[in-house]
Formats: sequence, C-alpha cells, structure tokens
Amino acid sequence: MDGTVSQALDDTALVEADRSTFFHPFTAVADQQANGALVMSQANGSRIVDASGNEFIDGAAGLWCVNVGYGRSEISDAIAAQSRKLPYFHTFNGVSNEPGIRLSEKLLSLAPKSMRRVFYGSSGSDANDTAVKLLWYYNICRGKREKRKIISRDYAYHGVSVASGSLSGIPMVHQNFGLPLDFARHVSRPDLYRDAPSRQCYTEEAYSAYLADELDRMIRAEGADTVAGFVAEPVMGTGGVLPPPRGYFQEIQQVLDRHDVRLVSDEVITGYGRTGTWFASEACGMRPDLILTAKGVTSGYLPLSAVFVGDEIWSVIEDASKDGRVFAHGFTYSGHPTCAAAALANLDIIEREGLVERVAAISEGFRASFDDAIGDCDIVGEIRSAGLMMGVELVADRETKARLPASAKVAGRVAMAARRHGVLVRGLPNSDIVALSPPFIVTQEEIGLLAGGLRAAIDDVTKELRSEGLI
Ligand code: PMP
Repeated sequence: MDGTVSQALDDTALVEADRSTFFHPFTAVADQQANGALVMSQANGSRIVDASGNEFIDGAAGLWCVNVGYGRSEISDAIAAQSRKLPYFHTFNGVSNEPGIRLSEKLLSLAPKSMRRVFYGSSGSDANDTAVKLLWYYNICRGKREKRKIISRDYAYHGVSVASGSLSGIPMVHQNFGLPLDFARHVSRPDLYRDAPSRQCYTEEAYSAYLADELDRMIRAEGADTVAGFVAEPVMGTGGVLPPPRGYFQEIQQVLDRHDVRLVSDEVITGYGRTGTWFASEACGMRPDLILTAKGVTSGYLPLSAVFVGDEIWSVIEDASKDGRVFAHGFTYSGHPTCAAAALANLDIIEREGLVERVAAISEGFRASFDDAIGDCDIVGEIRSAGLMMGVELVADRETKARLPASAKVAGRVAMAARRHGVLVRGLPNSDIVALSPPFIVTQEEIGLLAGGLRAAIDDVTKELRSEGLI
C-alpha cells in the first residue's frame, strides 16, 4: 500500500457499532450478526485494506465499477475543486452547469453516433427507471398508449427499484416483494453452457436463432401493439457473465425492428471499457435506441448515471415538446456538477492512459492465467470471459455439469475462502458462479495473485465439499 497503512486499527468497536446500527443491502441479517462486517478502510491501485490492516487484491473493482483503480488523486482533486466552486445546483427548468455541459459533450463524442442527448441520474437502477419512462413517454407521444410492456431476460440484473427490479430477472430480487410489476416480461437468458444443449442447439448460430424465435413468439403472444421495449446487457453480468452467442443480437434486432420495439442496452457494467471497447453495444451487434450507463462513468468515486437517448426517441421527444409536452421526470441530483467533474477526470484518465486499449490488450492473458490456475479443478465447470469480466461456474461434476445443491452456497463459500487468501471475488446471487472484474490497471503480478488466490480458495472448498459428501 505504498506505505500508506501506518498501523493496523483495532476494528472491534467498529464491527460492534456496525452490528447494532447498519442495515446492509443484500445481506442476511443473521449472518451479519454472527460474522460481523468486513470493514474497509483504505485503498490504492487494485489493493484494498480493511480496518485490521489485512490487504486484499480487489478482483471485483468494488461492484464492477472502480475501473481506473483506487487512489486517483486527479479525480479527488477535481471533486475538491468543483465542490469548492459550485458543489451543487439542480438542472431542472433549463438550468445548467459547466461540468454537466462538458460531460455531455464528452460522452456524446465517445458514444455510438446515433446517440443525441444524455440524461443524468445517480445509479444504474434510476437509469433503468428513466429508460422505462422514456419508452412509455415516447409511445404516448406517438399516440400508442397501450404499447408499454418491456421484455428483459431471466437472471438479468437491471437494478432494484420497483421498476428496474421488475426488469431484473434474479429470483431473490422478486421474491418477498411481489415483483415483477405487470409491465415486465422475461425471456430466456443466452446460456450456452447449460441452456443451449437442453434446447438441442448445438451451434451458437442455432441457439441465437432459437432465442430470437422465443422473443418473436412472446411479442406475438402479447400483441406487438402492447410491447414497447427489450432491455438487455450486451454481456450479462450478475446473471452469470454470459457473452452473447454469435449472431444473437443481430437476430434479436431483426425481431425488434419487425415489431416496432425499441432496444435498450444496459451498459451499466460494460460501459467505458470493461470489455475492451468504449461501449459493448455495437461490438455485440446491437443498434440500441437507449444506452444506460453508471458505475464506470466515475469509476465509483461519486454516484452518477448517464442515459444516452438515440435518434428515434429524441426526435419524438423534440416534436412533442412543440405541443407543450414535458418529460416530467428527473432527480434532485440529475447533472450534479461535482459528480460530473469526477466523471470528466475519470474519463480523462481512461483516455490519457489508453485504458480501454489496455483492457483489449491484456484480456487474453488475463483469461489464460485463470485457465492455467483453475481450469483443471474438479468443481470448475466453465470459465467465461469478455475483456476484464470473468465468470467461473462451479459444479458437482464437470462431465455431467451436475449442480451442487443450492444449500451448499458454493459461490459464496469460494468468495469467503478467497478472502482468506487475500483476494476479493464475488459469488453471484442465486447461482454457483463466481465473478471477477478487476480494475483496468491491474498488473500482471496481481492477475497472478488473483488466479492463485482463487485456486487456493477453490481447493479449500473442494475439500469441504468432499468431506460433506457433496462431491
Ligand atoms: N444494470 C446493471 C447491468 C448492473 O450491473 C447494475 C448493478 N450491478 C445495475 C443496473 C443497477 O445499478 P445500481 O446498483 O447502481 O442501481
């Protein structure tokens, strides 16, 4: 840690205070009470240190977001300078601010050419909510009031607000909340490893055609006049790190065009370089009408989301405004000047240091390190990756792909074991998949440590599973 950790802190009091005051997201309260929190204290580069002085390599970049790494004083300085000059003002009723304007220019210069405007919020969830309301508004302005259903995919993660949570397809995001709301529909996720063989699809192209047909059938069954949009992550993240099969989005796009259904690309994870291009949509064959981004736009230094609005939807919004219609939507923090300043400094680092190109250049080696380190583990069924996103699917039997019982919670256990080996990875919800998404500046040595730490963790858990008779 560059000598910045002078001494280990006594974190007992912090853990105790956390236990009695802090309600954590996505956390089983009983576990929290029993285990106590892991209290993070400081970080630099790809390394993070807890309050007891234990150092970890952050193989997850926080939650897929700290893309330029920790300790970037350029971003901290930009935040400090802007917050001294103008920390906050709103952007309602045509009020604006310089960082917000500069950021909009910058973002449109990086985005696919069909994008016309940028709408801001603070999170990936609110970006998805904005997309839902944009689709509804767009269709109401076009006189198509009934065209409001939105189709997403099983196991997708689009957020947790009432609308974005409805688009998500992860069971635990719906259970116990009575979600999804009835505007949302779900089709199969593209899962070449498990789903394609069970559909007798033996080539990627055949599987893509199958999935496009499934979507086509759903739109017909619902009635195309009632379907407004299809929302998808170019590479599905939390739903299993699933790169699309060859031809998938090309086929999907044809179905959508046929039924006058708009495509929303959720690039909350993939935006700003994670897969080795600035945006993943075009590289994946998508022609999106809306592109949703958050996380990597500031590398998580401050909260910010940016929704790109494409030609078709923008032209309807512009026309409607001539009749006095207003898109009556937006947040106190839309276009927040200090968050915009953080984003500008972050994007400047990515450009100056060529980090998108770096991701493209190192992704093969990144993948190879994990193939070498864990490819032969008895419980590793498949390793999937795109750029610096990776998913490792854990199984009871590699040959038959038999699953471990859900009660074994194998992904969570591997993630906990990895901590003991100095490595942070994520066990994805409702799955046996461990995900990695290190900062773009991760070094070769750190990749080696991540792969080695994950191997040691998998070995530990394999032994436990054997002794429990589960493998
Ligand atoms: N979309 C995608 C693809 C995501 O991965 C996430 C968060 N992991 C979200 C939306 C929701 O973002 P947030 O947690 O900032 O609301």
